[in-house]
Amino acid sequence: AAVPAKAEEVTGSAKQGIEASKEKDFATWYRQVILRSEMLDNYSVSGCYILRPTSYFVWQEIQNFLDAGIRAMGVRNCYFPMFVPEEELNREKDHIEGFAPEVAWVTKAGQSELAMPLAIRPTSETVMYPYYAKWIQSYRDLPLRLNQWNSVVRWEFKNPQPFLRTREFLWQEGHCAYMTKDEAWSEVLDILTLYRRVYEELLAVPVIEGVKSEKEKFAGGDATTTVEGFIPATGRGIQGATSHYLGQNFAKMFGVVVEDPEATGPERPKLHVHQTSWGLSTRTIGVMVMTHSDDKGLVLPPRVAETQVIIVPSGLNSKHTAEDRQRTLDACLAVEARLRRVGVRASSDLRDNYTPGYKFNHWELRGVPLRLEIGPRDLEKQSVLSVRRDTFEKAALPLDGLEGVVELLLHKIQDDLLIRARATMHERVKMVLRWDDFVPALNSKCMAQIPWCEREECEEQIKTRSTRDAQSDEPEDEKEPSMGAKSLCLPMKQPQNPPIVAGETKCIQCGHDAKRYALFGRSY
Ligand code: AMP
Repeated sequence: AAVPAKAEEVTGSAKQGIEASKEKDFATWYRQVILRSEMLDNYSVSGCYILRPTSYFVWQEIQNFLDAGIRAMGVRNCYFPMFVPEEELNREKDHIEGFAPEVAWVTKAGQSELAMPLAIRPTSETVMYPYYAKWIQSYRDLPLRLNQWNSVVRWEFKNPQPFLRTREFLWQEGHCAYMTKDEAWSEVLDILTLYRRVYEELLAVPVIEGVKSEKEKFAGGDATTTVEGFIPATGRGIQGATSHYLGQNFAKMFGVVVEDPEATGPERPKLHVHQTSWGLSTRTIGVMVMTHSDDKGLVLPPRVAETQVIIVPSGLNSKHTAEDRQRTLDACLAVEARLRRVGVRASSDLRDNYTPGYKFNHWELRGVPLRLEIGPRDLEKQSVLSVRRDTFEKAALPLDGLEGVVELLLHKIQDDLLIRARATMHERVKMVLRWDDFVPALNSKCMAQIPWCEREECEEQIKTRSTRDAQSDEPEDEKEPSMGAKSLCLPMKQPQNPPIVAGETKCIQCGHDAKRYALFGRSY
């Protein structure tokens, strides 16, 4: 018998794909992409989502990379309980003020009320530091450098967004204690570099390294460094991951002290340790999806794609014999085996009840970076046809030496995704030197880089003023209500042209002396 008759086959249907346009209706588009590509499913608790194997694979690749990096720096993994006694949670005043509204509590066990309600960790400073105080008895116990991979719960009331803002999320949290500020700061920056590499090298997403404003920094810490991402389709910034210098604040509240190694005599003065904490979450996955995916569905960078190459038999029709068909299927399996042998995650779609066209859509929707089509005519020419998911560019690849060519192509796709995303981001950072240009920059989906005074009061004013100004403009998109801008970061790489001249350059909002350039934008 020849190939199955057309009538029995399932042809591609629109419902399987994406109907919404990324450009015109981003919110619906994003939902369709992540649900229909089977990255994620909704869950019966609002703000919580199921990570299906496709997205969990991405997370595990991030874990593998980051975990190796963290351990190479000398940080060790551990695990602390998820429950926080109320009195510990309340110890650092600014910290609890920042987190209180989002803390979820366990108040009952079975039918009985708990004598002491237990908080579920929104982050683990207050879980871990009582034990740091116990374990750090001497300067010889420093540095203490621990990390844990876990989930935390923040009962967010802002609109939940799959991956970006969820009520439970997966992350790692590193917590280190040092003798000196310099050592702590040096780690804060090393971690930030690792975070940038996760975004750029794995997810092909560009980020901007910077420091958070006083208003936006971590509750209870001294300073927060960040890698800021940017979603071009909505023109909104997103905090990618953060690395905090906590100073001695928590050490003072939790009594993490050592005696001064320089001092002599029996009454050596106590010194508070300098601490860091740093976290990167499953938000990364959402930023990646929003950056690369398109109206056909998910686009996955090869480094984090569970299937990197999908092989589809094609070009078979009713004129072909059973032997032709078998030869084609065998060739697919042979190519799959060759690719797997060199470590490429390849698989063949040999299902006989779907047309090639249906399969193309199926795997495009799921973001597989490279498709190889193999048919009798390709085999005659000793080649296969490759189709890139990111550009749909086609090329005939010789079977001879295919492994090397496919590996190169996957690298090229990975690199091109980052290059394209970087070019877009670069275009969207607008140097804004007059207030009048600020809201128009936001409305054209850009971030505004402004000379800024760094005052908290001014940041509030920028938010209110940019909300008001935007509302008086024409509504550009009813689904994206005009919102005020907040500071995203003070970029570590400051623009040099024009330079900020102390005492001369003014803040574009309030006219006070500008200290540095700050990046402002609408944000998630
Ligand atoms: P933080 O401890 O607040 O500095 O958070 C560390 C990182 O976790 C942030 O930089 C975000 O990237 C991420 N994050 C914070 N809140 C959420 C959330 N609700 N859902 C997912 N990721 C989050």
